[in-house]
Amino acid sequence: MATIIDGKELSLKKRESISVEAGSFTVRHKRPPGLAVIQAGDDPASAIYVRNKKRACEASGIKSFDYHLKGDITQAEILTLIDRLNNDDNVDGILVQLPLPGHLNEQEILLAITPSKDVDGFHPYNMGRLLIGDPVLVPCTPTGIMCMLDEYNAPVDGREAVIIGRSNIVGKPMAILLMMRHATVTICHSHTKNLSEKVLAADIVVAATGRPHMIKGDWIKQGAVVIDVGITRTDDGLKGDVEFDKAKDRAGLITPVPGGVGPMTITMLLENTLIAAKGHVSNL
Ligand code: NDP
Repeated sequence: MATIIDGKELSLKKRESISVEAGSFTVRHKRPPGLAVIQAGDDPASAIYVRNKKRACEASGIKSFDYHLKGDITQAEILTLIDRLNNDDNVDGILVQLPLPGHLNEQEILLAITPSKDVDGFHPYNMGRLLIGDPVLVPCTPTGIMCMLDEYNAPVDGREAVIIGRSNIVGKPMAILLMMRHATVTICHSHTKNLSEKVLAADIVVAATGRPHMIKGDWIKQGAVVIDVGITRTDDGLKGDVEFDKAKDRAGLITPVPGGVGPMTITMLLENTLIAAKGHVSNL
């Protein structure tokens, strides 16, 4: 029977230390670390994420600047706002809540964020730094997962890690972080053959597909570490990618959904804002 990784508890612990550091930053630099959160339109899921991020900032001594823009905002208007925030010394991080309304060019908007304020770690500069093994701002979900593995003393060096999902925000950066820690990494996706066999060989499984319960409990190797990133809203509530009830009987460590990876993602956003803030004052 697996140990359940408690993402909420670990988040609270990490947020306490972030809060202490944010407090000393504020005293030393006479301003708090600042995070600008941009949301365009009224996507209900985005509204919940933005609200949670704002609350987390406030509780940790990070000032949040809220930009809730109308759904028909133009590309030029949003780029002007980002340019202003790039040049605002009170703003250390800029986060654009995705997805944006369909008429906006997401890639151009993310590219407009100055890399030192790219607290999501999605800018090609930050992705490139990660790829060459010299990361600065790393996407929050994969960093949160590394933090969980460390906290629960899950060995990574020399282990077989299988990641299901190859997105830029989860799968790819996750693979690099695990490889940097000397895991042997396999990335699977919708064209992968014999997925169950690959998962069965894994010491560490990271599932990030958004396909509820597609990773079956009997695919899990005895004692494996199972990290479930997927969150899908169903009529039956939130579901992860992993068939949790069966997988927990075989895994050594497993994350629940909700209460696993999700809270850690927000916590790492706070941490990235603090890292960005320290970077901004380091030359003063
Ligand atoms: P994407 O939709 O960008 O990527 C999904 C990946 O899963 C793709 O690489 C896709 O393959 C792969 N995939 C889909 N179906 C299968 C299949 N049948 N077999 C194997 N691979 C498959 O999703 P994201 O990475 O953005 O997010 C994944 C999930 O994680 C979502 O549920 C999302 O809500 C959740 N999420 C949770 C976070 C948290 O904090 N807890 C943060 C970020 C995401 P292909 O490339 O071939 O299409």
